[in-house]
Amino acid sequence: MSINLQFDRDHIWHPYTSMLNPLPVYPVSRAEGCELILENGQRLIDGTSSWWAAAHGYNHPLLNAAVTGQLQQMAHVMFGGITHQPAVSLCQQLIEITPADLTKVFLADSGSVAVEVAIKMALQYWLASDTPTKTKLISLRKGYHGDTFAAMSVCDPVDGMHDMFAGILNQHYFLPPPQSSFDATFNSSDMQPLTELLKRQHQHIAALILEPVVQGYGGMRFYHPEFLRQARALCDQYQVLLIADEIATGFGRTGKLFACEHAAITPDIMCLGKALSGGYITLAATLCTDEVARGISQSAAGGLMHGPTFMANPLACAVANASVAIIRQNDWPAQVAAIEQQLKKELAPCQSLAAVKDVRVLGAIGVLEMHQKVDVAALQQQFVELGVWIRPFNHLIYIMPPFIISQTQLSMLTGAMFKVASAISASAQR
Ligand SMILES: *Cc1c(COP(=O)(O)O)cnc(C)c1O
Repeated sequence: MSINLQFDRDHIWHPYTSMLNPLPVYPVSRAEGCELILENGQRLIDGTSSWWAAAHGYNHPLLNAAVTGQLQQMAHVMFGGITHQPAVSLCQQLIEITPADLTKVFLADSGSVAVEVAIKMALQYWLASDTPTKTKLISLRKGYHGDTFAAMSVCDPVDGMHDMFAGILNQHYFLPPPQSSFDATFNSSDMQPLTELLKRQHQHIAALILEPVVQGYGGMRFYHPEFLRQARALCDQYQVLLIADEIATGFGRTGKLFACEHAAITPDIMCLGKALSGGYITLAATLCTDEVARGISQSAAGGLMHGPTFMANPLACAVANASVAIIRQNDWPAQVAAIEQQLKKELAPCQSLAAVKDVRVLGAIGVLEMHQKVDVAALQQQFVELGVWIRPFNHLIYIMPPFIISQTQLSMLTGAMFKVASAISASAQR
């Protein structure tokens, strides 16, 4: 039986879509390695890792075995008053591989929830202290932290549609993101807005939340790690917690295991998600230091007031254990370095195209920033015709393929990006 696309169109929301004018969706029946296989048998090379998650590719034998093995034991049990080996093993692994001071783990069921928990941790920490006035967050413009309401309140105000939800979203402070790009020399004026805001308002500020080094869905911007290093120092100076949202950047994507390592800093709170479970089952984690955990636990509530129904789902923890174990075999640094080199070489020619504003590459992420917003549905169709799965948005045509991608497969992706960007340039000139 074929997938009923008319039913899908009439009844099912897809991410960020309209029910009146839904964009086309492609029926996928299988996924394997770096390929999505459409219902009609067409194979597409995947440039998205299903939104950063499937870092080891699809249908991976070790990840499959982890899920089926766990399934024989138990699919799920509540985490209130119960613990289990998949959760304990995973938290042990996470504590071992993240910066040393991060010692306490909260397992959440999605990235947005991990951000909610991080914000709740920061607020509860200060409520329990002798400075309960610290109730505001600082965030960077062009940031993205998720779609739930507290997460949305720290997303870029334009992309996060703060206007539409004015009076509903909590008001926080937004600063311009650093202008010094990753490889450029650092311009110290990037620190000025944060320095001034902290000087004036630190007694009201609980935490600075940011995506370290790579701002993802807010613009695919790669900024200078020195910003992160100095932001850490300023947070210490003004007693403000630093929340690193590594949901997209974690597990090797930027060329370091965690993007914080580019600046050799430890945040007070770190959010992980996306590639955590190798893209198999929704799972996220919020880690914090002993100091933050102690503060929270001394608050009037007496604990961290959060506990999702499917917290620490054993299937998700089991596959995450296997995924982290693959990361720890340490093939990723060479894989990511090779992808980075090839992306730099093969995307460079795009720089001369009229419609392309900027080409940038960091780790296993390749981005074409266009002068104009792109027509997502039209481009997606062109990419499918070229045998690749790439999903552009706004001004951006970008890829973050699975680490196991072959040279030939990656060339298919970069070739398709060049072709599509060329066609846009040609039609703009007519
Ligand atoms: C994707 C993402 C989130 C939200 O994660 P979900 O699992 O989609 O809720 C939060 N922060 C960053 C940086 C992300 O890339």
